[in-house]
Amino acid sequence: MSARAQSTMQAADRTGGAIIVAVSKRHDAARIEPALAAGARVFGENRVQEAASKWPALRLRYPDIELHLVGALQTNKAKDAVALFDVIQTVDRAKLARAIAAEAERQNRAPRVFVQVNTGEEPQKSGVLPAGADALIAEVRELRLELAGLMCLPPAGDDPAPHFEMLRDMAARHDLPALSMGMSGDFETAIAHGATHIRVGEAIFGPRPPQ
Ligand SMILES: *Cc1c(COP(=O)(O)O)cnc(C)c1O
Repeated sequence: MSARAQSTMQAADRTGGAIIVAVSKRHDAARIEPALAAGARVFGENRVQEAASKWPALRLRYPDIELHLVGALQTNKAKDAVALFDVIQTVDRAKLARAIAAEAERQNRAPRVFVQVNTGEEPQKSGVLPAGADALIAEVRELRLELAGLMCLPPAGDDPAPHFEMLRDMAARHDLPALSMGMSGDFETAIAHGATHIRVGEAIFGPRPPQ
């Protein structure tokens, strides 16, 4: 077995099979390199422009990278996001879903998407409110976007478990296979609640440089 396959299997063991999305936001290419050298291929970024400045060059050397957008997306950046990202985890309104679908068609790309749910109903946070999730999920499906599942980011300081449960139940009702939940501080809880994707930044790369 190759060293890479072995390290991937060991990582999968520790995460109960969940995919680790290594969140490399605010880290430069030099900081990301060691993770690539160690075999990581799934990465997350929260800003389109920052990601566009780092990843095209890295991709020339590691063509099998899978890039996830985990930060809020403005409609006017849908074009750049569709060009760069394989997965957009932050679809939270119909207008954005339509912009992504239009760009996907124009660019002949097929990004997988997650609907982000604002499970804590925090006014400052992105994500569709739980009451609006059913309608948005239906809309995304009508647009023929490849809907993988749901994503959430529980309020800081809350017990994340009830939020993970809400997301899991919602995904089950809609027959959606993927659940992106859990970060450095709570990924074990997320895995216990069925996470298929955990988004881990600090636990992999250490503290982030200031913005
Ligand atoms: C930054 C970020 C993460 C990673 O957070 P850590 O606490 O560093 O693991 C996960 N998800 C989203 C949406 C983020 O913005």
